[in-house]
Amino acid sequence: SIVVLGSTNMDLVAYVAEAPARGETVTGREFRTVPGGKGANQAVAAARAGADVAMIGAVGADDFGVRLRDALEHSGVDTDLLRTAEGPSGTAHIVVDDDGGNAIVVVPGANGTLTSLDHGDEALIATADVLLLQLELPLSAVTAGAVTARRLGVRTVLTPAPAQPLPDELLAATDLLVPNEHEAAALTGVADPHAAAEALLRKVPEVVVTLGAAGSLYAARGAAPVTVPAPRVRAVDTTAAGDTFVGALAVALGEGRPVPQALAWASAAAALSVQRPGASSSMPYRAEIDAALAP
Ligand code: ADP
Repeated sequence: SIVVLGSTNMDLVAYVAEAPARGETVTGREFRTVPGGKGANQAVAAARAGADVAMIGAVGADDFGVRLRDALEHSGVDTDLLRTAEGPSGTAHIVVDDDGGNAIVVVPGANGTLTSLDHGDEALIATADVLLLQLELPLSAVTAGAVTARRLGVRTVLTPAPAQPLPDELLAATDLLVPNEHEAAALTGVADPHAAAEALLRKVPEVVVTLGAAGSLYAARGAAPVTVPAPRVRAVDTTAAGDTFVGALAVALGEGRPVPQALAWASAAAALSVQRPGASSSMPYRAEIDAALAP
């Protein structure tokens, strides 16, 4: 099974011709509220890819919190350890312009209340094959989760997003780090993804750098790096491509598949998701991923 320790956010998305400059007001065309957050997105991706998934996190005591929890449960994610914290849910305020560019403010809300783990969380992590982590919860909780998993022999997969400096204690408890190109550059100060992956191998044993339409790059200590191409597809919406990739990757790794095979499966899942509009709603189910890879 997979356990996700991570964020839930309600995405509040306004579509405009051109984003407003400071001090300016513009009239938008459309508004949508979409359940999201990196943690929740990875949980949904893994559940759709066919794993038993449980989520540790926090929603707020508001209408968004109810919807965020419902959305996870609807995808089959176990929410028994998803807290309802006082105050508002996490929100992401997103302005999308006609060029597809976006500007985003994330307000952590309830996510910010999850600063430590309890015995129930540790007992759940003990049952997992893989623990998925990102950086939209307080670092103290993310680090506690990774350290607990490491102690229990549970594989840890960290998406270092949003990019920020990582404490050594967290890196030391990370088995697989999965940055995108920008995060890899931010973490290392090295722009070239190959060189950045090499640099990251000094801190963690395995790294996958995702490269958008160019696929992904796998590097492990003591082995030659492997580039995994992405299927050539017509992308209409790449929102949450990385979360789809990581969710599916965790499922394949949890089933004991070797990393190169797991990466091909994750790439197929992410390629399916970018061909459809939406974030978690565009994530593929297991049968679709298998069909996409069938000869
Ligand atoms: P993020 O969404 O975190 O920025 P990437 O853009 O690197 O991450 O995308 C993650 C993965 O999704 C890629 O490694 C690739 O497998 C897949 N992907 C993203 N964009 C495309 C695309 N245009 N065509 C095919 N696959 C894609």
